[in-house]
Amino acid sequence: MTRRQLFATIPIAAALKRANAAAAPFERIDTHTHIHRRDPALLSLLEQADWRCLSICVSRAIGDEASDLEEMIRGTIDVHQATKGRIAWATAFDARGFESRVFAGRVIASLQQSFGLGAVAVKIWKNIGMGIRAKSGEYLLPDHPALSPVFDAIEKAGRTLIAHLAEPDGAWLPLDAHNPEVNYYTGHPEWHMYGRPGVPSKDAILAARDRVLARHPKLRLVGCHLGSDEEHLDLLAKRLDTFPNFAVDVAARVRYFVSGDHTKAREFLLKYQDRVLYATDFTLGPGDGEDAAKEFQQTHERDWKFFATRDELSYRNRQVQGLGLPENVVRKIFRQNAVRWIPGIAG
Ligand SMILES: [Zn+2]
Repeated sequence: MTRRQLFATIPIAAALKRANAAAAPFERIDTHTHIHRRDPALLSLLEQADWRCLSICVSRAIGDEASDLEEMIRGTIDVHQATKGRIAWATAFDARGFESRVFAGRVIASLQQSFGLGAVAVKIWKNIGMGIRAKSGEYLLPDHPALSPVFDAIEKAGRTLIAHLAEPDGAWLPLDAHNPEVNYYTGHPEWHMYGRPGVPSKDAILAARDRVLARHPKLRLVGCHLGSDEEHLDLLAKRLDTFPNFAVDVAARVRYFVSGDHTKAREFLLKYQDRVLYATDFTLGPGDGEDAAKEFQQTHERDWKFFATRDELSYRNRQVQGLGLPENVVRKIFRQNAVRWIPGIAG
């Protein structure tokens, strides 16, 4: 009897007690990673711990620099095939050139090609809203009419739009000790928007994303990083109530749940248990080896403990207690929501 067959015959609660506290009785899915080359150590850890991942391609170019997207897509398809789909993939498109008459046709043709090669989703990134500009100097926003036919094509193909738009509030605040993201923006000044003329406000970017949700009610849109409302669960709740086609991932934002009010976090996760997808934002760098794979595994197990158990755990040098969410909710966050919001992710 395989491990999975064994667990299928006994209720989860009993299985959880029998297994070590950090193990799960089902295959879990990390819906936000960046793995664009083969890494045997990483794959064997994923297999052992029974994880699947979505590897997301990103079009990062902003100005006239050369794009690395095609190379990234090639590497990702290779990983997808080599892992027999354990690593699913999301494609992306270069939004520069959105003022060209042939833009939508060209982008849609490239997306169709990716879909034919197994891409289950399309990613758009924060350079839409915070980086790419029209010839007039105006920033491209996600609800620009040039992008609309692209979103229609994604919806028609039954794929999911994965959207990292805007950033934590700190991107629009002075870089001082009061800025909760001071470390990140000190290291990444290119994304620090405070005091830059003509830059859209965070509200303006998220309002433009909301208009995409309203105009494409059948398009499934997963907002990365708690939809950039990581500091405002109340605002996020309103958006989830307004747009049934909107879900969010928790990539790189579990720390906000950990450091915030646990009662509020628990209530939020219970109420929106069908709309939250587990994710890490793990990125496999060019020189990363076994250590990176191990760290990835530790993140998975630590986050699992935080959501699924009441155990004490150490999180960024803090001792905290797990939320102990009910097992049906944990199953949704760590698997079922991924399968429902990103069809094809589990093969
Ligand atoms: Zn990411």
